[in-house]
Amino acid sequence: MQILKFGGTSVGSAERIKSVAKLVNYSNRKMVVLSAMSGTTDQLVKITNALFQQKPKEASHIINELEPKYRDTVDKLFTTDAFKKNGSEVITEHFNLLRSFTIDMFTHNEEKTILAEGELLSTTLFHYYLEEQKIASVLLPALNFMRIDENGEPDMEYIETHLKEELAKHPKSGLFITQGYICRNAFGQVDNLKRGGSDYTASLIGAAIKADEIQIWTDIDGMHNNDPRYVPNTFPIAELSFDEAAELAYFGAKILHPYCIRPAKKRNVPVRLLNTMKPQARGTLISRNASGDDIKAVAAKDNITVIKMQSTRMLMAYGFLRSVFEVFESYKTPIDMITTSEVAVSLTIDDTMHLDEITIELKKYGTVEVEKDQTIICVVGDFLADKHGYAGKIFDALKDIPIRMISYGGSKNNVSVLVKAEHKKDALLALNKGLFNIN
Ligand code: ADP
Ligand code: ASP
Ligand code: MG
Repeated sequence: MQILKFGGTSVGSAERIKSVAKLVNYSNRKMVVLSAMSGTTDQLVKITNALFQQKPKEASHIINELEPKYRDTVDKLFTTDAFKKNGSEVITEHFNLLRSFTIDMFTHNEEKTILAEGELLSTTLFHYYLEEQKIASVLLPALNFMRIDENGEPDMEYIETHLKEELAKHPKSGLFITQGYICRNAFGQVDNLKRGGSDYTASLIGAAIKADEIQIWTDIDGMHNNDPRYVPNTFPIAELSFDEAAELAYFGAKILHPYCIRPAKKRNVPVRLLNTMKPQARGTLISRNASGDDIKAVAAKDNITVIKMQSTRMLMAYGFLRSVFEVFESYKTPIDMITTSEVAVSLTIDDTMHLDEITIELKKYGTVEVEKDQTIICVVGDFLADKHGYAGKIFDALKDIPIRMISYGGSKNNVSVLVKAEHKKDALLALNKGLFNIN
């Protein structure tokens, strides 16, 4: 079985939905994972923000703005009156539900239910479209098998058992559709895999059923060597190892959800990145195979906070780091970069939900300084042996950029530097020139 995930732009209009139907409509058995139509989840987030602020009129206004896009899609997608009517009823039902939250009580549970609407709409419309085209398919509700545990981590055992149960109900079917992004939590409530989570859904499904391949179809022809949103003249990379792709995803290459390579790597399922607008393009193949010791790509992770600490109890130097790490562990806050000297440590986090509590706790052990608006620039490749002087090349390219922290040697696939956010673009451009010889 192949898993094919189509992102928001790929299903962003009636025309695009029709193209996706053409792409999936050929022989072998497959599962199609869809995101919400582009822009929808952003609007749903705005609706929930308005409701949290007790501004139901503002929420209704956004709902009223969103609905015509769906009415228009239904109108252009279907040809027969019967399916136009089906489509129209689906839109009415989902928008009635959205409107009900502007009247009733609103909590975090309702927030997650609202955020799930985008994927529920796109998959239902796609399923109806295939039906109208006389292409047999089965719509599998992700809420029946996709689940996270009490730590917010995917519950692999649950996913595998329940997905297999769902598939076993349709032994003769060759085409399945399901929602990306949405899941249930440990209490059975509707939840999600965080923004961009449809990639993660595809990878979790691919791993659970040990698929032949996971294809991530998006609006660009694969993983590029640098961030195309900031750097002109980037190019697609034909092959990456799981570890290289995982580092790029984690450190800001938006084309992949930060954690989506992990499940695929665990079960050794290759991941292919493809372009819906240019299906014949080669894209990027991510697999177990390392593809030569070389610098492959650069990515940047924004909204990083750096915490600098100096221990006041010099004699306790050997216990200092342990105490510091325990604070982050107790607030379930991952550390991305770390540098130490004898009694000082600087580290970076991107999840600042518990920053205030963490700072108070850390102050027990020494002085603490916090600085926001930092960016991690991450150079990824296979740096097993530094015989070619990669570090020299990287720092030479960055010679005019003020660097706050350096992390080298922690992983054989990653060299990271921390810069102020204002230097991000210049750093990415300098690396494109210095490492890839592109202006
Ligand atoms: P989808 O909606 O299909 O999930 P995303 O917008 O999440 O698509 O991801 C695709 C986008 O990722 C591209 O349009 C591109 O702007 C951005 N991107 C950032 N870094 C990279 C990179 N290194 N290679 C390719 N695309 C990247
Ligand atoms: N619709 C969700 C989002 O916009 C999930 C995804 O697109 O992957 O974040
Ligand atoms: Mg995405």
